[in-house]
Amino acid sequence: MRVRFRRGDTLWAYSRIFQVPLPLILDSNALDPVNIAIGQEVEIPGYIVTGYTVKAGDTLWQLARQRGLPVDALLLLNPNVIPDRLAVGSQLNIPLRVTWFIVDTIKPYDSAALQSDLNRLAEVYPFIRRRNIGASVLGKPIPELRIGRGAVTVHMNGSFHANEWITTAILVRFLNHYALSLVNGTPIRGLDMRPFYDAVTLSMVPMVNPDGVDLVIRGLPEQEPWRSRVLEWNGGSTDFSGWKANIRGVDLNDQFPALWDREAARNPKEPGPRDYPGTGPLTEPEAVAMAELTRSGDFARVLAFHTQGEEIYWGFQNLEPPESEVIVNEFARVSGYTPVRTIESYAGYKDWFIQDWRRPGFTIELGRGVNPLPLSQYGEIYERALGILLASLYM
Ligand SMILES: [Zn+2]
Repeated sequence: MRVRFRRGDTLWAYSRIFQVPLPLILDSNALDPVNIAIGQEVEIPGYIVTGYTVKAGDTLWQLARQRGLPVDALLLLNPNVIPDRLAVGSQLNIPLRVTWFIVDTIKPYDSAALQSDLNRLAEVYPFIRRRNIGASVLGKPIPELRIGRGAVTVHMNGSFHANEWITTAILVRFLNHYALSLVNGTPIRGLDMRPFYDAVTLSMVPMVNPDGVDLVIRGLPEQEPWRSRVLEWNGGSTDFSGWKANIRGVDLNDQFPALWDREAARNPKEPGPRDYPGTGPLTEPEAVAMAELTRSGDFARVLAFHTQGEEIYWGFQNLEPPESEVIVNEFARVSGYTPVRTIESYAGYKDWFIQDWRRPGFTIELGRGVNPLPLSQYGEIYERALGILLASLYM
């Protein structure tokens, strides 16, 4: 919601009028707080504006009181209204505090759903910073969201694997949950989230592989040669529910320079729905975007969300630091998932992170069953993942 800055206003006053923490207002506006021009639009996070038609007997004072707001909140949104002369039938703008999830993430979550939900979140919570870290083979943006102002940066990502798109839906729901909790001061599982905003910067790439996700959900792309190739690599079938790779048939989680040769030796030699590691590490733009982000991100730890198996992989070649075990035990405690130190698998994103930074990296396998996991599991998966998402901030 936007208001127009009036003579004598301050962002601190807005924080009190709307009961929104000042840091969230500051971070929602690229403004010098002590030098704001009269008439400048200022974002107030966590509110939307609704219309109201004045009835006989209405007063601003009473309309404000019914909504738990000071009269000044209504004056700010209705600068041309004369308070003691409300005309019956005239329209007022009424600020409405958002106390519900503004995006519905329980749906087939393709790249268009992601973009439209991120637009909505950016509108209501402008303190969430958004940029694109790269583009897919088909030119679709790969967005990264950042939330918080802490010195420690925690990174999480989803949908490295196309048919694991439910991980994107889970991450975006968490983003909405976190923002909602920050603005309103409502705890999540008894945790006040506001201290995390100051202590941690959360980096999130909810959909690493948009082309693959769209292939699984929407079917063949229009673009050649990919339309014909993908059909061939899928054995002529238009059912892509078993597809994990990107649109070039490369498994993005086999693309990282962490014993890549060993992974290549045990995997398919040709493009296909899964496990083909490419002709070398980091040949695919989606993997390159993630590598560049990670190299510049100084991440304290990374969480890569996958499905399935209800397991958490936390080691790589004994290169992981001792705190990885402490953290994974907490993740297991709050989710009921099983920690697994190592399996015969290389060249994954978390493998590379552990190898090159010697910091904690995790592959978290949500849910059970055949991918794509059905939306009927969404509620349970979110509840179990939520414990891990919260722990990633406080550990
Ligand atoms: Zn996976």
